[in-house]
Amino acid sequence: MKFFILSRGDDTSNLIQQKILSYLADFGFTLNQEDPAIVISVGGDGTLLEAFHRYQHRLDQTAFVGLHTGHLGFYADWRPDELEKLVISIAKTPIETVDYPLLEILIDHHDQKKERFLALNECTVKTTEGSLVMNIEINQEHFETFRGDGLCISTPSGSTAYNKSLGGAIIHPSLAAIQLTEMASINNRVFRTIGSPLIFPQHHQCMLKPINDVDYQITVDHLTLIEKNVEKITLHVAKEKVRFARYRAFPFWNRVRDSFIGN
Ligand code: NAD
Repeated sequence: MKFFILSRGDDTSNLIQQKILSYLADFGFTLNQEDPAIVISVGGDGTLLEAFHRYQHRLDQTAFVGLHTGHLGFYADWRPDELEKLVISIAKTPIETVDYPLLEILIDHHDQKKERFLALNECTVKTTEGSLVMNIEINQEHFETFRGDGLCISTPSGSTAYNKSLGGAIIHPSLAAIQLTEMASINNRVFRTIGSPLIFPQHHQCMLKPINDVDYQITVDHLTLIEKNVEKITLHVAKEKVRFARYRAFPFWNRVRDSFIGN
């Protein structure tokens, strides 16, 4: 089986990367950067986000697993002292995977340019100047005009990240849905927004339409883009899914508890 290991690049992560590499080579596995069946990220959640974006063109053929070298991560949920256990599991057991939904982001520009992105965590939209002012359409019908700091649209597995800091709900990744949360909306007698996070099921679409011709700062997971001339941003549950290799049970709610409450 072909595998690839992505390290965060610090000494601890690099050392673990080398150990996994030599163990898997001993088991007859082949290191392959082009078309790995399994990608092991060593570092933090950010490293796994990077691995996801690197292999997002072959999600149906690549499974991901994350080992953390700092604090427990949401995606990077194997501990360094479980390294041997992880390697033996990879070598000896057939890959069993769990699928998580993704967010599709389509950006249409006034000059006909079109861009498409996939997010594992979320997309955020802010402006580079002043308040964000955007019309929000749900399934092609006007819903509200948003004024405020920004908007965050997250996946279920991303609901524990930026979305959670914004007061969004935590959604189990078995639900194919996306969630829209506000960042400091302006609400007074003139301007009004719903104020609550909105959760959209698969096949529903949320569209953001700029009112002013300004530049937008759009993030897709850990990546930041400056977008000009934006006509509309369309968001919905992607047809693709990400596959995580599961070699032991670590239920989502246990991860939520261990990360935020303590065990
Ligand atoms: P980073 O180094 O700033 O890490 C942000 C933190 O988010 C880390 O502790 C990481 O473990 C955690 N995290 C990432 N994905 C998570 C998830 N799905 N559930 C729970 N925690 C998660 O940045 P990075 O490593 O490049 O990660 C980018 C992510 O940072 C973004 O996707 C966004 O979700 C998050 N972020 C959060 C805030 C906030 O909460 N105010 C602000 C900016 C970015």
